[in-house]
Amino acid sequence: SSNGHTFVWEHNFPMATYLSTIAVGDYERIDDVSPNGIPIRHYIFTEHAEDFARATSITGEAIDWMSDLFGPYPFETIGFVTADAPGVSLETQTTIVLSTSMIGQTTVVHELAHMWFGNWVSLNSWQEMWRNEGFATYVTMMWDHRDDPEGLELEIEAIKSAVADNEPNYPLGSPPKQYLFGFNTYFEGAVMVHELRRTVGDDAFFSGLQAYFEQYGGGTASDAEFQAVMETASGISLDAFFAVWLN
Ligand SMILES: [Zn+2]
Repeated sequence: SSNGHTFVWEHNFPMATYLSTIAVGDYERIDDVSPNGIPIRHYIFTEHAEDFARATSITGEAIDWMSDLFGPYPFETIGFVTADAPGVSLETQTTIVLSTSMIGQTTVVHELAHMWFGNWVSLNSWQEMWRNEGFATYVTMMWDHRDDPEGLELEIEAIKSAVADNEPNYPLGSPPKQYLFGFNTYFEGAVMVHELRRTVGDDAFFSGLQAYFEQYGGGTASDAEFQAVMETASGISLDAFFAVWLN
């Protein structure tokens, strides 16, 4: 029309509605590529350029590392868009909203992990939020300690005490809605993931996760379906394990 422009965005992959957003601002675009060739595309407010560069410098290395562990990066590009939204970052699919108050590597790695855990495989129910946030939190710890397995064990032990002291102590499998994104969802969720890894062993843990993304990628999966994949990978019944952690 003569009155303006119409922009049309298309996304070539299935996507949960909460993972779509529009950011409007005076952005600078930064293009890069991961060592294995995944295109990286950031949009930033230039006043945060230095902090942003420091925090996101590991994007390519981290996305390739996750691809090795969980299966190929599921989408075409990856990057971050800064937003003046205090305390709110969100794993919006392929272009992650990064709060200008949260520009740091922990947030960067956490949100990248969601491209697999939450985005490529979505939850069947919000009550299963531990599978999004527990995994994203745990993957961030794995990244931090990727050359230091003992450091990971020490951090998990510290988190176990913090979880034990945390109030309210709601069941992971049925968080009250005001605690859907509560401390336990992230940190007890991460401990549960670590204990699952210890229970089935590294080989079954990682081959099970890869099978999970192969089987359910581009769609949703339930806790029961996740459990079944891990049981197939390990040959171990996990009924008792999941009952103890989720109830
Ligand atoms: Zn998260």
